[in-house]
Amino acid sequence: MAGITIVFDFDKTIIDVDSDNWVVDELGSTDLFNHLLPTMPWNSLMDRMMMELHAQGKTIEDIKEVLRRAPIHPRIVPTIRTAHALGCDLRIVSDANTVFIETIVDHLGINDCFSEINTNPSYVDEQGRLRISPFIDFNSSPHGCTLCPPNMCKGMIIDRIQASLAKEGRQRIIYLGDGGGDFCPSLKLREGDFMMPRKNFPVWDLICKNRELLRAEVHEWIDGEDMEKIVIKLIEKIKIQDSIQLLAVDYKIETLPIALPPPVRVHQ
Ligand SMILES: [Mg+2]
Ligand SMILES: [Zn+2]
Repeated sequence: MAGITIVFDFDKTIIDVDSDNWVVDELGSTDLFNHLLPTMPWNSLMDRMMMELHAQGKTIEDIKEVLRRAPIHPRIVPTIRTAHALGCDLRIVSDANTVFIETIVDHLGINDCFSEINTNPSYVDEQGRLRISPFIDFNSSPHGCTLCPPNMCKGMIIDRIQASLAKEGRQRIIYLGDGGGDFCPSLKLREGDFMMPRKNFPVWDLICKNRELLRAEVHEWIDGEDMEKIVIKLIEKIKIQDSIQLLAVDYKIETLPIALPPPVRVHQ
């Protein structure tokens, strides 16, 4: 069977909130965040906010405690487990950061389901501050994509995933996302792939307005329950398509030597 790779965005796709906003809001720094937002890129602002929280006496454990109670629809974890059990290769592509995502997927017990997490690197420094760096250093090597924020082009990550999958034979991709940053990767998907934009979220709006630019089949989803139904249906669909192709190959080999029946005469 050809492999199926499922790429998940994280914020508002796996969890039901934006993890950056969730941490800032729950730790009472919304006003400062909103005040600084017009002055710097989002990713740099999150690094700055982590320093501010540390200065206010908030520890990395306080941050992790907030992350562990981030809201998630009850059908998301079962969807991920089922897709993994069905042999799909699951990956996360997110503009959050490694500490936030690993804290949550560890807490949910689904760390083993993912072969790859592509996100902004983060670590706890000697003073106990969480530091967040851009996925791409936009000063030394800008990615040049006008659709994406300076620190990350998710389309570039899909390019890399597609290149590595190509070495393993024909592979199909299902991509799930909600945000404006998920539009660029949706344009990289090919015929035979599936794009699952969250209905009434920014990527859905962008896809509705630019449908002709997408080669992938589009299936919108509303919530975790809807996501589960569609993901499982698409996995089954891909498996059926692949088995029909295999049958077709067998059929050709077996039937080619047999002479075709004579044409039926048409009444005049
Ligand atoms: Mg998102
Ligand atoms: Zn891009």
